[in-house]
Amino acid sequence: TAPILKIKNLTTSFATPGGIIKAVDNASLDLGQGETLAIVGESGCGKTVLSLSVMGLIPDPPGRITAGQVLYRDQDLVQLSEQEMQKVRGNKLSMVFQEPMTSLNPVFKIGDQIGETLRLHKGMDKHQAAEAAVEALKLVGIPNPHKRISNFPHELSGGMRQRVMIAMALVCSPEILIADEPTTALDVTIQSQILRLLDDLKNKMNGSLMLITHDLGVVARVATRVAVMYAGQVVESASISDTFKEPLHPYTQGLLNSVPRLGCRTALTPIPGNVPALLDLPKGCRFHPRCDRAFDLCREQEPQLLNKDGRQVRCWLHT
Ligand code: SF4
Repeated sequence: TAPILKIKNLTTSFATPGGIIKAVDNASLDLGQGETLAIVGESGCGKTVLSLSVMGLIPDPPGRITAGQVLYRDQDLVQLSEQEMQKVRGNKLSMVFQEPMTSLNPVFKIGDQIGETLRLHKGMDKHQAAEAAVEALKLVGIPNPHKRISNFPHELSGGMRQRVMIAMALVCSPEILIADEPTTALDVTIQSQILRLLDDLKNKMNGSLMLITHDLGVVARVATRVAVMYAGQVVESASISDTFKEPLHPYTQGLLNSVPRLGCRTALTPIPGNVPALLDLPKGCRFHPRCDRAFDLCREQEPQLLNKDGRQVRCWLHT
């Protein structure tokens, strides 16, 4: 099937005191109908900026999409006005953020917060919105939803708050859900429950999910495809099975070596060094100072993202 979302050569730049940086640099990705695409990388790799760019939520100034397209059903979202984009947000594309406590308003009951979205996008009255809020809480597995709608966010546990955020994001049945590190603030058991919930709901609604995470281990259970980002660029994208079986890019290999694998007792090896500052990128391949397979060409010329057997990789070892 044709992708529901196509990100084409997207560049998002920020003005900083030290100069202009490209937080996302010429990124191209497709999200298929019904697919769960994971975007993986260390903090500062551009994955959150990429998702905020798709949602039209880049603060301008200092940020701006300076090139490329975000095609949702062939409509370029980059060209929409803020007013037009507001109609798309929540309705067609929705986002779950990392820390529910900062995204939920502490002074409003959760039922009212979910209801507000419905009144805004679906024109429901107060009573209809309250009913729909109860249904939404039921859908995300919150017990006693009739009682819970009168709770304030601080009266709920972290896991429950994240479920409320998911209910809020899904209440208008969007076609695409973007979840940015939705489980980082939660403990491990709750993490896997939330991921399973996201995946179940995506299937139930026949939607598509874009999962942003720094943890490649997290995505193994739910993602169909993985795109790995490094220093603002996509460096590899492939199916989850290809990525785990035979990662092509040395950075992806490094990420995998630092993930605990089931039944595998070998020691974990973190990738040495740090992500480069975007104002001070190394010449050639951006990963070369940390790459144990780097050779002369890597230090001189930047590799392009190339298609290889239905996968994409940006590395001189695969040209
Ligand atoms: Fe390593 Fe060279 Fe490939 Fe970059 S291009 S990842 S430095 S081998």
